[in-house]
Amino acid sequence: MPLTLTWTGHATWLIDTGSGVLLVDPFFDECPTASMKANDVACDAILVTHGHFDHVADLIAIAKRTHARVFCNWEIEQWLTQHGVTAVQPMNIGGRAMVPGGTAKMEIAHHSSSLPDGSYGGNPAGWVLDVGGLRVYIAGDTALFSDMARIGRPHDGKRIDVAVLPIGDLFTMGPEDSLEAIRLLEPRIVLPSHYGTWPPIEQNAQAWAQKVRAAGLADARVLIPGESLRIEDR
Ligand SMILES: [Zn+2]
Repeated sequence: MPLTLTWTGHATWLIDTGSGVLLVDPFFDECPTASMKANDVACDAILVTHGHFDHVADLIAIAKRTHARVFCNWEIEQWLTQHGVTAVQPMNIGGRAMVPGGTAKMEIAHHSSSLPDGSYGGNPAGWVLDVGGLRVYIAGDTALFSDMARIGRPHDGKRIDVAVLPIGDLFTMGPEDSLEAIRLLEPRIVLPSHYGTWPPIEQNAQAWAQKVRAAGLADARVLIPGESLRIEDR
């Protein structure tokens, strides 16, 4: 089954699995590069990597309007419950849950996490999605880490089809470290994220993609906010 990934800007993604749409890290109305408004988002589930503003700014509003179930860590679940969001699946690193179109496993990320009100946001995370017959790795906000070799290792005979990696630098890994991440993960396709939103994380994504391709690491695709990539099953 083909999968459609849409980058709406910053680190926000819509993943149409063919059996439901997953929204990752909703940040729309205050995102300077967002391709759409929070009110126009339709989704069936929401996945959250961590509690920082640029990942949860529109989470409560979209969760309440759509009634889409939110998958997040325990601490973010507590915060959502306090704000009246009831359809939440709390989990933690290493856990796997059923989501529309397949499963989502919460993975480690090396970053920090606090919520917009300053409360503790638990550990930051990444996601390994087995959806629509394809494997998608959303690294979230993270530095390069050697466990990416483990995350990229085949299981159930499958490798990562699409890796979404931050390249903005400063708050996450930058373009250089992302090349090493791609070496460890060995994805078929790689998509850059968490860059270009504000001047401090401006990057030349096309130059990055050329380096990835020249090194023979993966098929690097650069989207503009609002653009989609349709990925066929192998
Ligand atoms: Zn961020």
